[in-house]
Amino acid sequence: MTNTCDILIVGGGIIGVATAFELQSRDRNADIVLLEKEPGPARHQSGHNSGVIHAGVYYAPGSLKARFCRQGVPATEAFCEEHGITHQRLGKLIVATSEAEVQRMVTLGERARQNGIRIEEVDQAGLRKMEPHINGLAALYSPTTGITDYKRMTEVMAELFVARGGNIRYGERLLSGQEKPDHVSVTTDKTRYEAQRVVSCAGLHSDRVIRCFGQEPGYKVVPFRGEFFRLLNQPDDLVSHLIYPVPDPERPFLGVHLTRKIAGGFTVGPNAVLAFKREGYRLSAFSPADLAETLGYSGFWRMLAKNARSAVSELSASASKRLYLQRIHKYCSRIQLGDLAPYPAGVRAQAVSPDGRIIDDFLFVKTERCLHVGNAPSPAATSCLPIAQHIADQLASIA
Ligand SMILES: Cc1cc2nc3c(=O)[nH]c(=O)nc-3n(C[C@H](O)[C@H](O)[C@H](O)COP(=O)(O)OP(=O)(O)OC[C@H]3O[C@@H](n4cnc5c(N)ncnc54)[C@H](O)[C@@H]3O)c2cc1C
Repeated sequence: MTNTCDILIVGGGIIGVATAFELQSRDRNADIVLLEKEPGPARHQSGHNSGVIHAGVYYAPGSLKARFCRQGVPATEAFCEEHGITHQRLGKLIVATSEAEVQRMVTLGERARQNGIRIEEVDQAGLRKMEPHINGLAALYSPTTGITDYKRMTEVMAELFVARGGNIRYGERLLSGQEKPDHVSVTTDKTRYEAQRVVSCAGLHSDRVIRCFGQEPGYKVVPFRGEFFRLLNQPDDLVSHLIYPVPDPERPFLGVHLTRKIAGGFTVGPNAVLAFKREGYRLSAFSPADLAETLGYSGFWRMLAKNARSAVSELSASASKRLYLQRIHKYCSRIQLGDLAPYPAGVRAQAVSPDGRIIDDFLFVKTERCLHVGNAPSPAATSCLPIAQHIADQLASIA
C-alpha cells in the first residue's frame, strides 16, 4: 500500500519536530507525516546535549548561525514560558586565564557586539565578586545565555503537533527516496509514501539520507563523542553563572565548560573525540561500517592533519581523567578527581568537506521537491525555531 501526504519529514530530533510544528502552524489543513526510526523523539543529539540556550557570542558575523541563534534565544524562552518548560537565564562568563586568552577574549567580545549580542568585560576583581570559586584574569559576561531541557522541548512540540492532527510514525526508518516530476516517492522499512515535498533533518545520518535521495551532499558526517562528568561534593552555590573557557583557536569546539543543569547539579564537559559509531554513546560502542566509512574518507584524514595537535590532546584528556581535570582546573581549582562522576555522553554530527574543512555554519541542500538539513551542529537546539521558520519559507518556494 502507498500512503500519500503533503509533506513528509524525516527525523524526530528538535529540528524535525520544530519544522513539523511550524509547518502545521502555517497550514492547519496540511497533511504532514514525520518519520522517526527510534521509539520516541529526541533520542540522539537533541536529547544528549549541554542544554545551553546560547546567546550567539561566537559565530561569524553574517553567518546563519549568528542570525538564527540571535533569533532563537527569545523564541526558545517564549516557547518554554508558554508551555511550562523550565528555563533559566543564568548568564555566562567566558573566563580568560592567561594574557593570550585575554587578547582572544577581547576579540571575541568585539565579535559578539558585531552580532548584536549584549556583552560586558569583567576585570579580575569583578570576576571574583561574581564567582568566588572561579579563577581567571578577566571574563566576558553574556547576560542572555541560559539553560533549558531540549528533550522536553522536543517532546512538547511533538505532543502539540499530534494533538493538532499531525502524524508521527515512530519506529519507522527511511530507506530510500526518489524525486518524480509531480511527487517524491519514499520507501521505509514499513511502507511507501508519495509526498508532495520532503524535508530531512536526520542529524548524525544527514549525509546518508541525502544520498538516499540520489543527491551528493558534498560532505560526510564525522561523529564526535562529547564526554561529560557530573560533579559530586560541590555546594549548590558553586557557581551561579555558566562558566566557559576562552575558545582555543586550535580546537573546533567551545571547550570543557561548567554548566548548571536544569534538573539540578552541575556537569563539566564536553570534550570532542572521534566516535566509533554514529549513534554510539558508550565508550565501547563500535560499528565496523561507521568506522570504515570515516577511515575511508579522505576528508577525515585531511581534517586530522589540520587538527593533529588538538586531536592528540582531546584523546589524551579522554583517556586520562587527570588530564581532563586539568582543563577544569584552569578556571576552577576546587574540583578534585573524586568529584567527577559518570554522566551520559553525547555524539555530535560534524559535517566535514572533502578538503578536510570542518563545516562551521548551518547547511541546507535544496532540490526540486526536497529540502535537506545538512549540517546542524550547536547552537542548532537554541536556533531550532528560526531554523524551522527558514525551512518553512524555503519549502513555500518549492513546487
Ligand atoms: C554533546 C553536545 C552538546 C551540545 N550542546 C548544545 C547546547 O548546549 N546548545 C545548543 O543549542 N546545541 C547544542 N548541541 C547541538 C544540538 O543538540 C544539535 O545541534 C541538535 O540537537 C540537532 O538536532 P537535529 O534534529 O538536527 O538532530 P538529532 O537530534 O540528532 O535528530 C535527528 C533524528 O533523525 C533520526 N533519523 C536519522 N536517520 C533516519 C532515518 N533514515 N529514518 C528515520 N529517522 C532517522 C534520528 O533517529 C534522530 O532522532 C549539542 C550537541 C551535542 C552532541
